[in-house]
Amino acid sequence: MEPTSVNILLRRLPQVEEVLRSPQISALQTLLPHQVLTTCVRRTIDAMRSDILAGRCTEVDTRLVVEDACTRAHAHLQPSLRRVINATGVIVHTNLGRSPLAEEALQAVQDTARGYSTLEYNTQSLARGSRHDHVESLLCTLTGAEAAIAVNNNAAAVVMVLAEFAKGREAIVSRGELVEIGGSFRIPEIMAFSNARMVEVGATNKTHLYDYEGAINAETALLLKVHPSNYRIVGFSESADMRGLRQLADRENEHRRAQGLDDDLLVYEDQGSGAFLNLACFGDYAEPTVAESLQGGCDLVSFSGDKLLGGPQAGIIVGTKRHIDRLKKNPLARAMRLDKMTLAALEATLRLYLNPEQALVSIPTLRMLSESEDRVQERAEKLAATLKEAIPASCATIDIIPETARAGGGALPLCDIATCAVRVTFQRGTAQDCEQFLVSHWTVPIIGRIKKDAILLDARTITDDEIPEVSSAMRAYCEAQESANEMQGGRA
Ligand SMILES: *Cc1c(COP(=O)(O)O)cnc(C)c1O
Repeated sequence: MEPTSVNILLRRLPQVEEVLRSPQISALQTLLPHQVLTTCVRRTIDAMRSDILAGRCTEVDTRLVVEDACTRAHAHLQPSLRRVINATGVIVHTNLGRSPLAEEALQAVQDTARGYSTLEYNTQSLARGSRHDHVESLLCTLTGAEAAIAVNNNAAAVVMVLAEFAKGREAIVSRGELVEIGGSFRIPEIMAFSNARMVEVGATNKTHLYDYEGAINAETALLLKVHPSNYRIVGFSESADMRGLRQLADRENEHRRAQGLDDDLLVYEDQGSGAFLNLACFGDYAEPTVAESLQGGCDLVSFSGDKLLGGPQAGIIVGTKRHIDRLKKNPLARAMRLDKMTLAALEATLRLYLNPEQALVSIPTLRMLSESEDRVQERAEKLAATLKEAIPASCATIDIIPETARAGGGALPLCDIATCAVRVTFQRGTAQDCEQFLVSHWTVPIIGRIKKDAILLDARTITDDEIPEVSSAMRAYCEAQESANEMQGGRA
């Protein structure tokens, strides 16, 4: 752009005071302090100035400035992090906050966070206590481990284990398990970050026990097993089993002890999801539970708190006391420690597992995973009936179709969970348009799925309580379509 036209555009930018006097911004004076409105207007003008200088803006209009400043101001009035209705059929949906918490967990958060708590206070000794104590014995009871520690998330748990035990030494991992879990969490990167030397063995589809055996030397600190989480290698594939790895480690450790060396070769499994129970819906895809991995001979197992476990975001490490004690002393344990609200929710969730039948009912993630098809079908019928009553047949037709739900959260990627979805096919408006309305314009965003020009609302992840809300939103969308249609009809 010519420098002169840039100057002309810059001169056309309105003054802050002028924008503040506009009726739209003035109307917000009762809702937001003057100082906040001024900041919003200033940010808008600054952004436009940068756009002009970068040649991204070719027109300045005061109306647009007012509009943008209003959008910025409105953003202060409504929470950004808020509830949504998950109608996707993906149960542990990472973008939607993974696991909803059990009532008992919510209550525990309220009770402990509202006032002061025993976070680091021991009521027996009347002295300082440890925040680790609140969940450790429950974790040991539930998994059969000697000791346990919970940190911020499983990614933190993996970093901690690698940094404590394999820093400056070697960790052996199969080429079939060099996974990327999401974001920038990739096993090779995490190894580098933790200063562990990664020794890859085997091939993508097959890794044998002798591959690990051949790579073990005096520098080897860990045999690492990583759960492939969100993908599977099917067909001609093989991986070493836990008992075999245990035997290799035992043999190496005997050898080291005979030489007077006392740093053990450890077997560590990053389980990712980490289920405590094997649910019927897992079928053929059932995997070792945390307890089974420990029985199989793992020294340490780590897993997430908010995937199949159904609790708050956390990373849990269970295993032998000697090794957990070392982790507790690592400075990372302090940097990655859990907050009191998370600890309260985790403790309450774990307590529910003491009675597995209770856990299946009370923990929403487990309930959604294990609910019978009949129950899901019933909910779909209820939703369909409510929708049919709420919206005119001239706008959309409603039916129920069988669908496939997913565990999500990188767990059980091949496991199809039978479900029912309510299908909304539009005569007026479109599925894309309705989706935009449900997500961007409705008070509680409703996240569904689009399939062949229809919206699917999965009855496995919607709760009974949410049915009226979904119905009101659909009614509002259809009413808007009807009135648009009438206006067009009037003009014709
Ligand atoms: C999900 C996952 C992680 C990361 O866990 P977060 O709790 O999300 O930090 C690490 N490893 C595996 C195998 C996973 O599936």
